[in-house]
Amino acid sequence: MTDALLVLNGGSSSLKFSVFQTGDLGLLVRGQVEGIGTGPRLILRSGSGELIEEQTLTDRVRFDHTDALGLILQRLQVRVLDHRLVGVGHRVVHGGVKHAAPARIDACLVSELEQLVPLAPLHQPHNLAAIKAVFLKTPHLPQVACFDTAFHRTQSQVAQWFGLPRRYTEQGVRRYGFHGLSYEFVAAELPSVDPRAAAGKTIVAHLGNGASMCALQAGRSIATTMSFTPADGLVMGTRVGSLDPGVLLYLMTRHGLDAAGLEKLVYHESGLLGVSGISSDMRTLLASADPQAAEAIDLFVYRLGRELGSLVAALGGLDALVFTGGIGENSDLIRARVCQDAAWIGIRLNDDANRQGSRRISYDDSKVAIYVIATNEECIMAQHTQRVLGFNGAI
Ligand code: ADP
Repeated sequence: MTDALLVLNGGSSSLKFSVFQTGDLGLLVRGQVEGIGTGPRLILRSGSGELIEEQTLTDRVRFDHTDALGLILQRLQVRVLDHRLVGVGHRVVHGGVKHAAPARIDACLVSELEQLVPLAPLHQPHNLAAIKAVFLKTPHLPQVACFDTAFHRTQSQVAQWFGLPRRYTEQGVRRYGFHGLSYEFVAAELPSVDPRAAAGKTIVAHLGNGASMCALQAGRSIATTMSFTPADGLVMGTRVGSLDPGVLLYLMTRHGLDAAGLEKLVYHESGLLGVSGISSDMRTLLASADPQAAEAIDLFVYRLGRELGSLVAALGGLDALVFTGGIGENSDLIRARVCQDAAWIGIRLNDDANRQGSRRISYDDSKVAIYVIATNEECIMAQHTQRVLGFNGAI
């Protein structure tokens, strides 16, 4: 029987999972339980992506993350017969100031992560729910936390500070940055794609429902657009991105919005959805003939271009621009528009290569090389889990 690692990504209403064989980390199966709390549904796919099972649980409204994990473990026993789970890796959105690397989970770490809940109230509780579910269902399995913030801990002090009174900075009100597992994956791929850029200055644009950009100097994060929360920076699917703090004060005093109302506004009602009034989904907006859809896309591209300029300034130049995430990997149109606006940096997009979805989409003589690299956060998490657990000896 071969050993395998389970990698979990717990969201508010979903628990995504992947199972990797230890050693070469070949992907065995992946899937998710979605609709937790409403109408749970399990989807299971093979390592190569074919659908192997779909199950809707109509009678299970009071179904939580522990039930979801129970269901996943039960289906894995049936589907991954010749493998034995030996460890679990979790995506954990916030590791605070302290965690610059993945860590093995024990009761002490769980209580530390619980204290960080106020810093990431929309994500951290669900990550913790997945960790607790594993403790409950399979207490013998060692667990590893892989933090979305850890990759950015290499940033200088000035890159991490707000212009707030020092006492707040000391209490943790600072720029953390997120999407770190995705940036780590791209940074690890870059040396084989473009050694010069990997050793130099690269900007990675992770454009999905959540979207951010990161400036890499020799593979290390030196600046990023998300900050204290994943709501800062770019205009996203439903998140507002950078916003004058005075707007929040105005909405509180003049429109009577309280903390809950503001949270709903900046995380769930803004971004592409709020501006278009149609959808948070870029594909839907690109397919729409409604002028408001076009305006939302215009704003997305414009703000991206401004943040790009800011990161070029932080790096003091640029060797490569990398697109990743659902929009970055799949939309040649958005890539083309971003590159058109960024011509001033010395970018020359090869339209044919871009349309064909090639890995390198710039001309050979483009001063700044442009790439599309599909991200794989689960793969990085599996690598970390395997390394932290030293899967043969430590378990
Ligand atoms: P998440 O942040 O939830 O992981 P993804 O990285 O899956 O999100 O990205 C989802 C976004 O990618 C959605 O806005 C979706 O419309 C967009 N997307 C996916 N495929 C395409 C495509 N072919 N063209 C344009 N946008 C796309």
